[in-house]
Amino acid sequence: MRVMVDADECVGDGVCVEICPQIFKMVGDLAVVRKEVVPQECEDLCREAAEACPADAIKIDE
Ligand code: SF4
Repeated sequence: MRVMVDADECVGDGVCVEICPQIFKMVGDLAVVRKEVVPQECEDLCREAAEACPADAIKIDE
């Protein structure tokens, strides 16, 4: 599973970082992914972060 954050859509509220800090971090006002290939043990939290993102900025490729 791969993940990315669309920087044009991210509103920088940090919700994804709160849910899944193993994958997401803030850089300035935007979230970025620490690693594009999601370790299996982080997949559920990563999906949860994508569902919780208010801007629908997290793109997952299963
Ligand atoms: S939850 Fe979505 S909008 Fe909020 S910081 Fe993360 S990617 Fe950006």
